[in-house]
Amino acid sequence: MNDKVADLAARRAQRAAGGAAGGGRRPKARRCPICGKPASPDHRPFCSPRCRQTDLDRWLGEVYRVPAEEPAGGARGEGEEET
Ligand SMILES: [Zn+2]
Repeated sequence: MNDKVADLAARRAQRAAGGAAGGGRRPKARRCPICGKPASPDHRPFCSPRCRQTDLDRWLGEVYRVPAEEPAGGARGEGEEET
């Protein structure tokens, strides 16, 4: 029974070591939300100015697209005429 526990611990240690020393990769590295490439420190969280702009455009586009409360054609003129 102890063998199994020891084996498990060994495995866990091995996995931890392997994960930490993954070729010197930085675990903090984020990926560009636009294209999925590793983000550039200069343009975080994007990989390039282009992706940054793309995100901005997309964002603004959505904002403009969101239909504000447009007046329905039928309910207009009702209650506006008060004398
Ligand atoms: Zn990108």
